[in-house]
Amino acid sequence: FATSARRMDIVPVAGSKHINPQLIAISKAQGIAKGLSDAVGNTPLIRLNRLSEETGCEVLGKAEFMNPGGSVKDRAALFLVRDAENKGLLRPGGTVVEGTAGNTGIGLAHVCRSLGYQLVIYMPDTQSQGKIDLLRLLGAEVYPVPAVAFDNPQNYNHQAKRHAETLDNAVWTDQFDNTANRRAHLLSTGPEIWHQTNGKVNAFTCATGTGGTLAGVTHYLKDVSEGQVKCFLADPPGSVLHSYFSSGGKLIDRSGSSITEGIGQGRITDNLKGEVGVIDGSLHISDEKSIEMVYRCLDEEGLYLGASSALNVVAAKEVAEKLGKGNTVVTILCDGAYRYAERLFSRKWLEEKKLFSAVPERLHKYIVL
Ligand code: PMP
Repeated sequence: FATSARRMDIVPVAGSKHINPQLIAISKAQGIAKGLSDAVGNTPLIRLNRLSEETGCEVLGKAEFMNPGGSVKDRAALFLVRDAENKGLLRPGGTVVEGTAGNTGIGLAHVCRSLGYQLVIYMPDTQSQGKIDLLRLLGAEVYPVPAVAFDNPQNYNHQAKRHAETLDNAVWTDQFDNTANRRAHLLSTGPEIWHQTNGKVNAFTCATGTGGTLAGVTHYLKDVSEGQVKCFLADPPGSVLHSYFSSGGKLIDRSGSSITEGIGQGRITDNLKGEVGVIDGSLHISDEKSIEMVYRCLDEEGLYLGASSALNVVAAKEVAEKLGKGNTVVTILCDGAYRYAERLFSRKWLEEKKLFSAVPERLHKYIVL
């Protein structure tokens, strides 16, 4: 990260006891980005007007879909690569290896092309040909492998690790357990939210895949506000985290499944470890509510969002209602609906998933596929 911080201002953070202020870097919005990797982050914070009026709060969404690769994972991708460079694990011309079927791969593909690294991606072979094609056309070497559980040595993550070990000048970036991931949000997303709201933020909420976004932003906002900002996990069905947070640390409930992609977790990743005690609470959000919000955000705010973003917006609305009028609640708009359109806006798919009735009748005009 040190190299990419060239055009960053160092901003002293009032009240921060635990984070070295010298580490907090806020990008300048003006000027010329020195390559694509320098254009990651610094996204707008958008007021969701209708939901703000409805709740009497300021409901704000961080527009992560405006990153160069189209998602919040561009930040993690950049920090994982910069971390490997800083540790001397990756030198010019080297290779990045990761296990991912989603946005991290796309983020890494953009960052690696921009910085001159090769990229190798392992993913479960249950993933769509479209995802494989996209990563290949972005320059990645892609290995679809049998979809087996994490405790099986043939799991795609372990295969990615072993592949990196066979190469010189190569690194397995390990987005789940490499805490450079959460540092991306501790040092960029969190400070950006604080500065964009002039420190007037009462609550933050978001869902978790690796845990990087939730843990990094929470750590920063808690630290800078001396614990004043309340932070909440938002969790879909099929994830263990909601039960973990609401049972005082037991990994019990894995029941159900969700159509939201990129979120939900079966274990406490290293990115989440140490941050769990500071979370103020957790919300369980159904697919019905997330799907309804996909359509509401499109109709009312002009925001074309993926389902994890919509789940986050539902959570922000619920937190605003819980805290009461006059509060400012921030969440993450992780990515757009572009990659999911043939599902989210298809009547057949909605019916198959028993989610057609979740779309209010007045919004049926958007079900066009
Ligand atoms: N939404 C989407 C669409 C994602 O791809 C991801 C990453 N898997 C997340 C949310 C969750 O982000 P994080 O990994 O930082 O928890």
